[in-house]
Amino acid sequence: MTTIHNLGFPRIGAQRELKFALESYWKGESSREALKSLGADLRARHWESQKGIDLVPVGDFSFYDQVLDMSFTLGNLPERVQHFHGDALDNYFRVARGRSAQGTDGHSHCCGGVAAGEMTKWFDTNYHYIVPEFTADTQFQLDDTRLLAQLAEAKSQNVNAKPVIVGPVTYLAIGKAKDGSNKLDLLQKLLPVYAQLLNTLAEQGVEWVQVDEPWLVTELDSEWQHAYNLAYHQLKACRVKLLVATYFGALLDNKHLAANLPVAGLHVDAVNGSRDDVQQLIGLLPGSKVLSVGVISGRNIWKTDLSDVLDWVEPLAERLGERLWIAPSCSLLHVPVDLNSEQKLDAQVQSWLAFAIQKLDELRLLGQALAQGREAVSVQLAANSAALQARRTSDRVHNPEVQAALAQIIAQLGQRQSSYSVRAPQQAALLKLPLFPTTTIGSFPQTAEIRHARSQFKAGRLAYAAYQAAMRAEIERSVREQEALDLDVLVHGEAERNDMVEYFGEQLQGYAFSQFGWVQSYGSRCVKPPILLGDISRPKAMTVEWIQYAQSLTSRPMKGMLTGPVTILNWSFVRDDQPRSVSCQQLALAIRQEVLDLERAGVHVIQIDEAALREGLPLRKSQWAEYLNWAVESFRITANGVQDRTQIHTHMCYSEFNDIIASIADMDADVITIETSRSDMELLDAFEHFQYPNEIGPGVYDIHSPNIPSQEHIVQLMQKAAERIPVDRLWVNPDCGLKTRQWAEVVPALTHMVAAAKTLRQSM
Ligand code: GLN
Ligand code: ZN
Repeated sequence: MTTIHNLGFPRIGAQRELKFALESYWKGESSREALKSLGADLRARHWESQKGIDLVPVGDFSFYDQVLDMSFTLGNLPERVQHFHGDALDNYFRVARGRSAQGTDGHSHCCGGVAAGEMTKWFDTNYHYIVPEFTADTQFQLDDTRLLAQLAEAKSQNVNAKPVIVGPVTYLAIGKAKDGSNKLDLLQKLLPVYAQLLNTLAEQGVEWVQVDEPWLVTELDSEWQHAYNLAYHQLKACRVKLLVATYFGALLDNKHLAANLPVAGLHVDAVNGSRDDVQQLIGLLPGSKVLSVGVISGRNIWKTDLSDVLDWVEPLAERLGERLWIAPSCSLLHVPVDLNSEQKLDAQVQSWLAFAIQKLDELRLLGQALAQGREAVSVQLAANSAALQARRTSDRVHNPEVQAALAQIIAQLGQRQSSYSVRAPQQAALLKLPLFPTTTIGSFPQTAEIRHARSQFKAGRLAYAAYQAAMRAEIERSVREQEALDLDVLVHGEAERNDMVEYFGEQLQGYAFSQFGWVQSYGSRCVKPPILLGDISRPKAMTVEWIQYAQSLTSRPMKGMLTGPVTILNWSFVRDDQPRSVSCQQLALAIRQEVLDLERAGVHVIQIDEAALREGLPLRKSQWAEYLNWAVESFRITANGVQDRTQIHTHMCYSEFNDIIASIADMDADVITIETSRSDMELLDAFEHFQYPNEIGPGVYDIHSPNIPSQEHIVQLMQKAAERIPVDRLWVNPDCGLKTRQWAEVVPALTHMVAAAKTLRQSM
């Protein structure tokens, strides 16, 4: 019999119950007991949904983040919160979210304010974890309360529990040594605590523990390889069986290492990894070891091709017998909970999809087919095949015109007519901007009135004409404010946009939208990625009317505002029936048309945001070049069809460019605006060393903070910028868009920014 198991279940709740409970608790509107009891309800409900699965994850539920949970389990609390007097859960939230000294958690007077733990992306997903903090002196001490409590709860509900923890090597690898010490030196202190935890679980009657080690799919130098051997040889004596779980990619050259770790089982990802890689692994695997293969995507929302999986897995089952387990590729944390919540999705599209609950149904079906033969589930398999067949041949998916356009892509499409040095004087002559021109990144505050008007419009309670009038009024307000501030290049403010990706997805052919397809991004924050399901085309212009209206209100240059193809792709659920690069090219062609329409409408400055370009980088550096190649080419196709005098801007809100600077330069945008204020302009070093040839707007203030930057501070930052970049190529702008701020913050901040630019001009 093939064991079927799950690696993790989404905890946010089908209706985002956990989000709302957390936020209400944080606001002081409900009690800690109410929050804890909701947590217990969700766990019970989620275990119930996993009935019939042989081994069910326990400990995957988290009030904020599973990595932060692990830090608490290991007693690795940052020094600054170690003396907290209150409830442990409150201390946990202090690390997760930070606390101001005036906070209202009842302990600010005695325990003071604390900075939040740093947050970063969990491998190549859009989930963010709280980074473990280390120093050379870090001590670990087991706190098994949370895990044991969840285990007891699971047992009382007759759940066949498989506790899940983050493995020791991955835990060290994804943390940060605050004092620059070598994290690996901590391994010897860390392992006894892991051993103690595993033995405690053994005492509770646990047979299997899932130890997550996704770090094993990355490039490992000999030190880290050695750490793996050391760690698992030392944990070998523990009285539980360990299933080392790898996911998000193939093991490749770590196969030998992984196959020979002295553990009872290994989980590998056959979806985001490759079947080939798994086949090779089997040849290396000692005959006693369990091999768990992830055959259902934990990262995407498409139905699995069950017959295809069976074709592959049946011979494996034959060969490995009981040693073969099957599972989703990774934790289901990265997919929405329940497709059955959807009421507005087109029925046909819905029949192609599977969320977490449906993926577990697929898993049960596969288990049954392996145990009893395919005949036992022939009806379900036939239904699965029919749905997939319909998708394969649907004209919602395939658009011959788009495919023809794609076949026509030639290198010139991504090539500007002239080089930057020829274009720049033409743009200068047209735009007549001063030195240190000022601009903003696109959005102005999304006020309560804007959101209200939009929700009324979407609910059908506000006619389009009235909605349009309301948005136009907002645009006019933004334009007048910007003129009063004396900004040089204006924006329309993005009032009409709910979200920088959804706004475009909704107008492009080839997209679908769920109502409840929420996925946790961090803490209580969720995102609802649009579903890119078919060939992408643009039935009509998407932004021209709004920008044209904005331009009609002013004689200053108005910057058209678009989201780039790479960002749209990286923030969507994407097709699994063609490479991401192809979907990206389709998006590129569609947005290119919009760029050309804007240009025809007399818009001379066009910004194409690529906020998520860096996010798409593969886990392995050896695969970066390939990604950057097609990502940059897609941007170039989008942007570079314009005339020399049209100025293309791009914007990226992050602060790591060192390793991708050549690709950024290759995009050939006339101006790039980036996030720099928090790095004190040091990030411009990368641009300086590379001799970045075009213009740069290094952000001069952090828009995430309500603090108003002073004029002097902005002048100082720009002087630092001018030490690195020639002044005639510098712009002055905030780090990112202003949609989350209030006008009362925006006006003084931009007043200081414009005044700073004027001071700088005078000093020239
Ligand atoms: N133009 C967008 C805005 O200003 C950019 C947002 C982003 O980069 N995340 O809101
Ligand atoms: Zn940004």
